[in-house]
Amino acid sequence: MRYWVVGAGPAGCTVARELAESTDAEVTVLERRPHVAGNTYDAPDAAGVMTHRYGPHIFHTYDQEAYAFLSRFTAWYPLRHRVLANVHGKLLPVPFNLVSLRMAFGNLKAARMERALRDAFGDGTRVAILDLREREEPELRELAAYVYENIFRTYTLKQWGLAPDALDPAAMARVPVVVGEDCGYFQDPYQGVPADGYTALFTRLLDHPRIHVELNVDARERFRLEGETLTLDDEPCREPVIYTGALDELMGFRLGQLPYRTLDFTFETHPTDGYQPVGVVNYTVDEAFTRITEFKKLTGQKLPGVTTIAKEYSRACGAQDTPFYPIPDEKSAARYAAYRREADRCPNLILLGRLAEYRYYNIDTIVSHALEAGRLAAYR
Ligand code: FAD
Ligand code: UDP
Repeated sequence: MRYWVVGAGPAGCTVARELAESTDAEVTVLERRPHVAGNTYDAPDAAGVMTHRYGPHIFHTYDQEAYAFLSRFTAWYPLRHRVLANVHGKLLPVPFNLVSLRMAFGNLKAARMERALRDAFGDGTRVAILDLREREEPELRELAAYVYENIFRTYTLKQWGLAPDALDPAAMARVPVVVGEDCGYFQDPYQGVPADGYTALFTRLLDHPRIHVELNVDARERFRLEGETLTLDDEPCREPVIYTGALDELMGFRLGQLPYRTLDFTFETHPTDGYQPVGVVNYTVDEAFTRITEFKKLTGQKLPGVTTIAKEYSRACGAQDTPFYPIPDEKSAARYAAYRREADRCPNLILLGRLAEYRYYNIDTIVSHALEAGRLAAYR
């Protein structure tokens, strides 16, 4: 008995491990990149700085099971992730909170707005910008207009090519307005970066005598989905296949392309201890890039006299580009649902992960789904 897993990202590595531990089957993982860890892949650059090659990744979760599972394979560098927005040169904490409010408006005016916020929503609450924009109170209207214009509108246009209200409200609610002074980007009780990096973490997950990893293999050269039947090297394949790649690609784009955003990164190494005050600075009004990440501030790496940053540019994903972000809007959801109806006719195809499920998932959700999918597949 063999399970096939397509993709060695967080989803593929987690499900492979779960299957290897809960069955006595062989598990073969096919990955088309030359490395494991998917988009969390990290490696030292020429200057010795550990960099995240596909954008900054901070593990954060409320999910004790996902955290405990990964913690079997890594220690953590504990991080309380902080982000600043560069608003015409002024650095404001994001999520926009009462500290940001005072910096933006001055204490006197901020005090009036703060009172209005507390009266409307309560102390310590987290309010979606799209909800804040609905309020009629004059102080809140002015505040919402400022935050929308200076924190959300331009950044969202750069990131998605869409205005905030054209996206699934859940995507915008990922970064709320906070009626409090907590400047942490996340609230999750577990936050950090794997002490030796994500590549080391996912390499350890795959280190099992019955897991076989083949890199530089595009599964589409071996698997084909024809109606209800998957073929492997042109023969019908009855073994379970857990697919974590893009569904439209697997199905030959026959219902049209699912839209994605891709990213271009510009890495720069500077001869200085530190480049910016926190790990990530979002450029919410100026510049063509969305954000600058300084990796040493995420990983805690001690390396004096040198630091590496990455500028991140988002654009529509073409056929040859890496799909990074599924687009969370109604049109894309409808097209995905049509693909999904077709794919679900195949009884041994299991779709898992950010690409295959076409969902804007974080690592912890992926790990949780992969553990669940592994358990279900093991008892089929
Ligand atoms: P992926 O990581 O995309 O892995 C899929 C793998 O499948 C890839 O290696 C790909 O090469 C391979 N593959 C695809 N098709 C084929 C094929 N046909 N044959 C063989 N192999 C194939 N999450 C967080 O929790 N915290 C963060 O801070 C965070 N930051 C992010 C920043 C950016 C810029 C991005 C893009 C995402 C971020 N995420 C973050 C989300 C995180 O990257 C995903 O949740 C996670 O990588 C999803 O894992 P996955 O295995 O589903 O997909
Ligand atoms: N966002 C924004 N300004 C910010 C931070 C976030 O407009 O300063 C919006 C933007 O649309 C972004 C979304 O909120 O894509 C989610 O932000 P998050 O930081 O979760 O994005 P990710 O880290 O997944 O790229």
